[in-house]
Amino acid sequence: MRTLFPFACFECRVAFKRPWPADRSGTRKRPRCGGPAVGLSRKFKAPARSNVAQWEKVKFLVHHGFLFQSVGEPYPRTLRAAREFVKKHRL
Ligand SMILES: [Zn+2]
Repeated sequence: MRTLFPFACFECRVAFKRPWPADRSGTRKRPRCGGPAVGLSRKFKAPARSNVAQWEKVKFLVHHGFLFQSVGEPYPRTLRAAREFVKKHRL
């Protein structure tokens, strides 16, 4: 069985699991909305769809290259903490 990874669509605030794309682009088109979904580390746990603040935080982190890969400390819990986190770990 192939390893599945979470793919997140920020427009819809949903994540779904699929194998990593063969083209290695790291993104998949989400069938439901046609939008791009970004492939993340298997450590990623999707927030509830209604939790807009958490999705904003995830989007911010992903935009800065943090795909929930290990960086030696837990990922921040708030957007505010995420701003500090990004500065500290700058990829
Ligand atoms: Zn979508």
